Amino acid sequence: MDKRPDYKIIEKEILNLWNKNKEIFKFDINKDQRYIIDTPPPFTSGEAHMGHALEFIWIDFLARYKRLEGYNVYFPLGFDCHGLPTELKVINKLKISKENKEQFIKACIDWTNKMIESMHKTFERLGSSFDRDKVYKTIDRKYEAFVQYTLIKMFNDGLIERKRYPIMWCPKCQTAISMQEAGYLEKEGYLIYIKLPTNNGKYILIATTRPELINSCSLILIAKNKYVETENSLIVSKIYAEKNNLKIIREYDYKELENLEVTIPLINRKAKIISDNDVDYNFGTGIVWICTYGDPYDIKWKEKYNLPEIISISEDGRIISSINEINGLKVEEAREKMKEILKDYIYKIEKINHNVLSHTERSDCLSPLEFIPKEQFFIKIKDLKEKILEWQKDIKIIPESEVKRLIDWINNIDQDWNISRTKMLWGLAFPFYEKDGKIYPVNIEDLPIDPRIDKEKVKKYAGKFFEDETVDVWIESSITPLAILYYALTENKEFNPKELPELFDKIKEYLPVDLRQQGYEIIRTWLFDTIVRVNLLKK
Ligand SMILES: [Zn+2]
Repeated sequence: MDKRPDYKIIEKEILNLWNKNKEIFKFDINKDQRYIIDTPPPFTSGEAHMGHALEFIWIDFLARYKRLEGYNVYFPLGFDCHGLPTELKVINKLKISKENKEQFIKACIDWTNKMIESMHKTFERLGSSFDRDKVYKTIDRKYEAFVQYTLIKMFNDGLIERKRYPIMWCPKCQTAISMQEAGYLEKEGYLIYIKLPTNNGKYILIATTRPELINSCSLILIAKNKYVETENSLIVSKIYAEKNNLKIIREYDYKELENLEVTIPLINRKAKIISDNDVDYNFGTGIVWICTYGDPYDIKWKEKYNLPEIISISEDGRIISSINEINGLKVEEAREKMKEILKDYIYKIEKINHNVLSHTERSDCLSPLEFIPKEQFFIKIKDLKEKILEWQKDIKIIPESEVKRLIDWINNIDQDWNISRTKMLWGLAFPFYEKDGKIYPVNIEDLPIDPRIDKEKVKKYAGKFFEDETVDVWIESSITPLAILYYALTENKEFNPKELPELFDKIKEYLPVDLRQQGYEIIRTWLFDTIVRVNLLKK
């Protein structure tokens, strides 16, 4: 070798060598000794970055090592195309608005293809030994048809339903999100103690971080424990009075309090007091007001006590249908204003740090989330906790310390998986329609279908398609173990949707795949979603 090697020349020579010999990277599904790697398909909203380089060099190491060991290695390369990041690039960089749907989608396709071309080149230049003939894009017609087929299959198995439910809503992104995309962020806030007049001339004292939801409140809950009246006629938990050195006038059993009624100030709504085992006696005054919907507990309590659903927050995060002084204000502004409007009823205000449910999956959003009832599609996972805990045992996670992250997350499931995304244009359409109040899947031979574009296909069903909803992007990437096998089985074959059911059965014979390399930060999304989807689908 030259004493002063010119790496630019050497790189070209090596790339030429790989390109000439790319047959050695080829995986043949019909040959034995398979070693299948489920590579993470990068998002195509931008160019490849250092993270991708690192990730793909690791996988490349393993793929080459396994080939040297004599394995028939499958190292696929895929691209995960849909999603908000691309929409934002098209809006901000190309200055194309979402008003003209068709034009916008076309711009997203162009942007995506450009990024894929660039990324593909980068991976080649890295000397990555991926199989050149099995590159998949989630916007390939055959990939889209495959995803839609899996949705139809789950629907037919009773695993997908459409229902009206308070969903997690990001007012900033203006879309629904799933619990996999949400998390708690510690934020500064205020705990506001509000005096609610009772019909015996006293005040029930509640503590809330969300006074702006006042008009959504219709019930007061207490713990099954001891309460007291203090010298200012405040009714609080005994423990709160003692901790704060309040002079106790008399004690109340919780049953006595249940006979009282409170009036919600400003709106003058009468509300009952009920005792409930789930109320945290030790938090605040041991008394809570239930508003639709301030947090996930409110959803449970609303269902349990069949409360009216009074919505105070709009999709863009403003107060609606409430008192005039705050109507139209942003939630944060209204919260601030309530301190002034409610001043006759405020006992005290405490500055606190608390955990706020936020859109944590997107680091450029992080907005607090709201619960807004909407009719959407859900995968029924709420009651699958035990099964998912069993399924995860089939996977060996390295390092083992990360298993805990997955198990904690599974134990955390308390709601179904909302898979509808509204206001998102750059996404896959649902292969369902509604007719006479019932949901039906389309025929397999019509896949892929996009009601926004395939007007002819749609016409014959004479039903209502869900044109304003697209599929959660994780639905597309959570079947990569199946999709890569699908690509291996259909290489050089013309796409025919009618073959999907048969192909699907064939794919199952090759499961499980052998290896996946992935970041810990997507354990709760990519890994969790894959475990759920693949196990439900392979049944
Ligand atoms: Zn957001």
